[in-house]
Amino acid sequence: MIENVFDAIFLVYFIIGSTIRAISVRRISNWWRKKEDVSEDRDNGHDKELMFVSSLGMVILPFTYLFTPLLEFADYSLPAWVGWIGTAVFAAALWLLWRSHADLGENFSPELKIRDEHSLVTQGVYRHIRHPMYASHILWAVAQALLLQNWMAGPAFLVMSLPLYIVRIPREEKMMEDEFGEEYRKYAERTGRVVPRIGK
Ligand code: SAH
Repeated sequence: MIENVFDAIFLVYFIIGSTIRAISVRRISNWWRKKEDVSEDRDNGHDKELMFVSSLGMVILPFTYLFTPLLEFADYSLPAWVGWIGTAVFAAALWLLWRSHADLGENFSPELKIRDEHSLVTQGVYRHIRHPMYASHILWAVAQALLLQNWMAGPAFLVMSLPLYIVRIPREEKMMEDEFGEEYRKYAERTGRVVPRIGK
């Protein structure tokens, strides 16, 4: 149940993050839903399951912790500075989520797809890392672990989203390389996946 300031901060940031996502997705045409606009679909049949597991850790467990007594058995308490670091990390995650949606624009899709008029984005936050949106989710997940003082709800998003990224990132990069060839290989050489490459 909501008991301390960090539970409340988590909830407020969660709502801001969901709003950033909803506004960004509303602004674009949702081409990935229209078969005729999709030129490449790399869904391997497990993407939806992995996204479901990740959303259990991102939404279901934290909300069960915040609004029901069911997970009280797993509560613990952390010093306040841990929660303040979590607050800062969550703010960074929201900034990166907003920027990556702004920079990726129409090329965004929830599943691995390429649209007819796809363009390779290498500017803005994509100038430094190839997966800023996934990086923002990882920061969000770290922040959740630092803010929610409960071993079921806190680390849940981090633990339950790792399989998604481990499976998805190499497949996404293969798809992008198949589509953009040398242009993507060069881009990949000068950037990091989720952490900027030093000295480039
Ligand atoms: N992995 C990226 C994008 C996530 S959205 C990130 O974390 O920011 C997933 C879709 O984005 C993929 O299906 C692919 O079509 C598209 N995509 C990924 N990288 C891209 C890039 N550099 N330029 C254009 N589209 C890209």
